[in-house]
Amino acid sequence: MNPSRETQMLIAGGGIGGLAAALVLASDGHRVTVFEQTDAFGEIGAGIQLGPNVFRMFDYLGLTADIDRVASYPTHLGMRDVATGEQVVRVPLTETAKAAYGFPYGVIYRADLHDVLLNACHAFGNVTLLTASRIESFSQSADRVNVKLADGREFDGDALIGADGMWSRIREAIIGDGKPRVSGHIAYRAVLKRDEVPSHLWRNEVELWGGEKTHLVTYPLRRGELYNLVAVFHSNKYDEGWNTFGDIDELKARFANAATPVKALLEKINVWKMWLLCDREPVKGWSQGRVTLLGDAAHPMLQYLAQGAGQAIEDACVLREALRAHDSIAAAFQAYERARYLRTARVQLTARFYGDIYHASGVTRELRNQLFQSGKESAGFAGLKWMYDGIDPATMFAA
Ligand SMILES: Cc1cc2nc3c(=O)[nH]c(=O)nc-3n(C[C@H](O)[C@H](O)[C@H](O)COP(=O)(O)OP(=O)(O)OC[C@H]3O[C@@H](n4cnc5c(N)ncnc54)[C@H](O)[C@@H]3O)c2cc1C
Repeated sequence: MNPSRETQMLIAGGGIGGLAAALVLASDGHRVTVFEQTDAFGEIGAGIQLGPNVFRMFDYLGLTADIDRVASYPTHLGMRDVATGEQVVRVPLTETAKAAYGFPYGVIYRADLHDVLLNACHAFGNVTLLTASRIESFSQSADRVNVKLADGREFDGDALIGADGMWSRIREAIIGDGKPRVSGHIAYRAVLKRDEVPSHLWRNEVELWGGEKTHLVTYPLRRGELYNLVAVFHSNKYDEGWNTFGDIDELKARFANAATPVKALLEKINVWKMWLLCDREPVKGWSQGRVTLLGDAAHPMLQYLAQGAGQAIEDACVLREALRAHDSIAAAFQAYERARYLRTARVQLTARFYGDIYHASGVTRELRNQLFQSGKESAGFAGLKWMYDGIDPATMFAA
């Protein structure tokens, strides 16, 4: 597409996916308006893991230096048995990930990643970022899209990208597959300051303590200023959404048999934020004329592979190349979806499987431990090569 036509792109949602989309479209000369329902652009205070496939996208986007300033690079990714503390697998990351995939494995504070994207958007004069702007509905004709906001304002554009997350309104209109699937798994998250973590428990590693229907993930953030904790367990006691408070007594009960270091870390936290974990069955058909979906709106997944935000960023990069390679928006959106739906479906389904592996008990747990321990150090990683190898958006639509 010829961006000199200055197409007006509308984006629903200013999360990581929406901002990544705004950035790629603005840098190609499109005019972009991002509609964010909350009163300010920002992210919740928690960590996020970034696989080598995501660093490949930062390279493609020219963001490597900005990310490097705020990311941390743990030395290992490991799994321990939550009850015994036994090391199940421990994979070296730093040079090993770079050697295997060409890019590192890192972790980042969500707000820092969001800021990098927001600042990159601000550098372009053609991005308008609107807060307190909840999209209520949209309609499209052969050559326009119209969005209506909850406060009655209306906007016209050439295309609409629904990056409005797990409970996407845009998805509801395009696919109509109801509410997300409640997995029955709940995450409690908290962030500790460096001096709140006993030194013998501080490790510059991503550690997953797996147990029956539970696990805890820990890693340092902001180059060691903070320590990220995410405790996950099966429960039917939850509030919908991402930001309600957790019940400490329930958490203690779920981790009652955990090894001493885990209990010692959990003890340090007085306030947990609760996250209801949902996903959906993979589908296709998320592009309809001048409207498409991106990120969690298109392919919401459980967090067990730490890939949701990474896949949203990959989406944005592929969307840009699809628009470059096609003369019409509708054709570009169809091509974008074709290029993405099987890869993202594979991540969605594999994430469920990894959740079962982390939470295994009985013979399944023994088998997991034996398989992970029998191979080389990287055994737990090898099955994910297809994911971490990543994609090359620039060559995807070559004639
Ligand atoms: C516990 C947990 C751990 C995770 N860990 C990782 C990890 O380590 N690595 C990783 O890559 N991913 C991880 N994820 C997944 C990741 O958080 C999501 O995949 C990612 O945030 C999706 O980004 P998004 O922009 O598509 O959606 P969201 O982040 O949900 O953003 C959607 C935005 O749209 C706005 N919005 C919604 N509706 C409207 C509307 N109608 N109008 C206007 N605005 C609207 C919302 O306010 C929000 O700002 C994790 C998720 C969880 C729950």
